[in-house]
Amino acid sequence: MPETAVKKNQEMTVTIEDLTYEGLGVAKVDGYPLFIEDALPGEEVLIRVVKPLKQYGFARVQKRLTDSPDRVEVTSRAYTQTGIAPLQHLAYPAQLKFKEEQIRQLYKKSHLDIEVLPSIGMANPTGYRNKAQVPVRDINGMLQTGFYKKRSHELIPIDDFFIQDPKIDQAIMMVRDRLREYHVPAYDERKNTGVIRHIMVRRGYYSHEMMIVLVSRVWDVPHLDEIVADITKMMPEVTSIVLNRNSKPTNVILGPSTRTLFGKDYLTDELLGSKFHISPLSFYQVNPTQTEVLYTKAVEQAGLTGNEVVIDAYSGIGTISLTMARHAKHVYGVEVVPDAVADARVNAELNDIHNVTFEVGKAEDVMQTWKDQNLQADVLMVDPPRKGLDPSFVEAVGYMLPKKMVYVSCNPATLARDIHALEEFGYQATTTQPVDMFPQTQHIESITVLTR
Ligand code: SAH
Repeated sequence: MPETAVKKNQEMTVTIEDLTYEGLGVAKVDGYPLFIEDALPGEEVLIRVVKPLKQYGFARVQKRLTDSPDRVEVTSRAYTQTGIAPLQHLAYPAQLKFKEEQIRQLYKKSHLDIEVLPSIGMANPTGYRNKAQVPVRDINGMLQTGFYKKRSHELIPIDDFFIQDPKIDQAIMMVRDRLREYHVPAYDERKNTGVIRHIMVRRGYYSHEMMIVLVSRVWDVPHLDEIVADITKMMPEVTSIVLNRNSKPTNVILGPSTRTLFGKDYLTDELLGSKFHISPLSFYQVNPTQTEVLYTKAVEQAGLTGNEVVIDAYSGIGTISLTMARHAKHVYGVEVVPDAVADARVNAELNDIHNVTFEVGKAEDVMQTWKDQNLQADVLMVDPPRKGLDPSFVEAVGYMLPKKMVYVSCNPATLARDIHALEEFGYQATTTQPVDMFPQTQHIESITVLTR
């Protein structure tokens, strides 16, 4: 084993130089980087090395000797330990700057000359999440809900999740208490035994409706009728209770099949005045107020006049498609999750919007089909998952050559990669607008317009 610059348990005083994209402080000892939780650039800290690896190591703060002017008081260590809120110790304006800077650095590394505008933040950057997915585990004979410690499957019990709608926190505790009362076993992931794996809750920001999904290893949950009756009695705003079965030993939270136990099998909410049906397995943006900001900007950037044919790739339940359809000639949406496409079609009807067509399939495949059918889009809207656009999707864009692309990204690394690939086809971006959808966390959302 080669010698590292530091030894386990060694104590030393360091000055934090940088922040990783995950929000860890970085200090260097003879060029050897140490990653340190709850430490901000400029701060002088006494640390203890906990995990020296070959190329880098992890250390813990023993004592902070100076405070960054951007430091705010930490509400609960659990939020950092679990990664729920890894930036909670950084003042919100500095979080917004940090995110812009991440994009700037990525662009610089990729030799992209694109201006990054100041992030659009939230007035009140806590309690914003309209959805929770909370693991249920047994700790010393007691059923607990909380979150995993980072890079582990050790559950830390949490009641107040800080960034979730407080009504959702209340619902989780209420369900947890019912499960305890009826002695329903928590799932054991090492043995793949036990029953309840996760509690998922969604709450409509405008509708105030609540959906509770119990994710279970088995259909046969003890005392299910009593639990459902108790929940509806104690929380009348619950309009839907669903059982989702996930029998596999996997980290994926939801299984493929659901059964409705009470009420509707979907949740209703609104965005920018349109109504939306949201099924348990469908994607729905988690920050409702910022979603309205994001969509308004995206539609604005698309520059629609009412005559355009628009493709909305990765369309989910059709939220962006329907918003754009009000300003376009026709919108074609494509989405891989069948339930989400079914929702999108219902949502079009619900809002009396008829100039939309939704296809189920992989965006990269359906784009190729559309290209073969000579569908000519004026504007291509994309909102892909973290892994970004598939190379075959980019290839199809190269054949179709829409005049304008609006790229909503939740991962600047794949965004930079994809812009590079699109440059091959003559596309150019001039500005990126970050919109903070995930305060207190490291996640970065942005909108970029590309034109030919
Ligand atoms: N624009 C929507 C959804 C964005 S999230 C909204 O704002 O609500 C990304 C969506 O892409 C998810 O609904 C996911 O199911 C879908 N998706 C993931 N991979 C895909 C693929 N290869 N082709 C089409 N859709 C995909």
